[in-house]
Amino acid sequence: METCFERALFFSWGCTIGDCQFCYMSTQPDDKPPKETKRSSASIIAETILAKHLGWDIGFFTGGIGVLSQDELVFLLKAISEIIDEKVWLSVGPLTKKQLEVYLPYIKGVVGSTETINPELHKKVCPSKPLKPYERMFESAKELGLKRAMTFIVGMGESREDFSLLKEFISKYDISKIHVYGLIPQKGTPMENYPVPSTEDQAWWISQLRQEFPSLDIQCGIWEDRIDRIHDLLEAGANTISKFRAIKLFGSPLARQIEEEAAKAGRTFRGTLTVLPDVDWDKEVDKLSLDDEMKGHVRKKLHQYIKGMKVMT
Ligand code: SF4
Repeated sequence: METCFERALFFSWGCTIGDCQFCYMSTQPDDKPPKETKRSSASIIAETILAKHLGWDIGFFTGGIGVLSQDELVFLLKAISEIIDEKVWLSVGPLTKKQLEVYLPYIKGVVGSTETINPELHKKVCPSKPLKPYERMFESAKELGLKRAMTFIVGMGESREDFSLLKEFISKYDISKIHVYGLIPQKGTPMENYPVPSTEDQAWWISQLRQEFPSLDIQCGIWEDRIDRIHDLLEAGANTISKFRAIKLFGSPLARQIEEEAAKAGRTFRGTLTVLPDVDWDKEVDKLSLDDEMKGHVRKKLHQYIKGMKVMT
């Protein structure tokens, strides 16, 4: 059985909601307007080209809510889907059916950043991001034939009794994929002093989900301080791995350890976090349907990334 690394493509580091208690995007200074926290399109496109050639799946395209305009989103979704030659999962907050129709040519499904299904806990950790609009989005997505995915963060205060709520939610909206993260206590957030959830806890949620939903696509979120739990999470039933700074740490001992953890769980690791493939990167940029100016920016960014990645390999 295979596993692989899933890259979430982020387009910003700020968000107009900005008060979810676990999220680093809530820690941006007030004098920094969220719309000014966008990454350049060239860097997103360059990262997508890298991800494709390193064999990483694109988990989803995401960023702060209300940061990109519809036109900017369409431009980037079109570019990403052209590079990877498949449609993309989109996670940009709750979208209306009308909005989904605009993105329909480029997306295979929507990810609801639901985080927890316990209503009281949800109110506390996401005070300005209620669940209801996500539920409406899932209904619209279903009508449009789009897949539905959700996120769940272990360690914010849920109890194991909440599993029945999660189970009900997955069944109700016919969720086909779930991202099971473990809390990363971010400095500057109200959760900065929360303990890191144990391997056992994260594995427990994954194994319960696997037992209840044999065909559910389960993706486990890790972090640099918890690489050694990967084999347990895979053995509990996770399909893929995410949340690793895979470009910055490419070829590092931690990256190597991820591949070893996969082997320890008896999985073949598709793609690589350690070996740069021999690719004519300029040619890859040239074949895209972008204007020459953008191609120039993408080429520059791509070579910057590769230069940094070569340091460790
Ligand atoms: S809406 Fe999403 S990106 Fe914005 S603060 Fe909340 S979790 Fe972070």
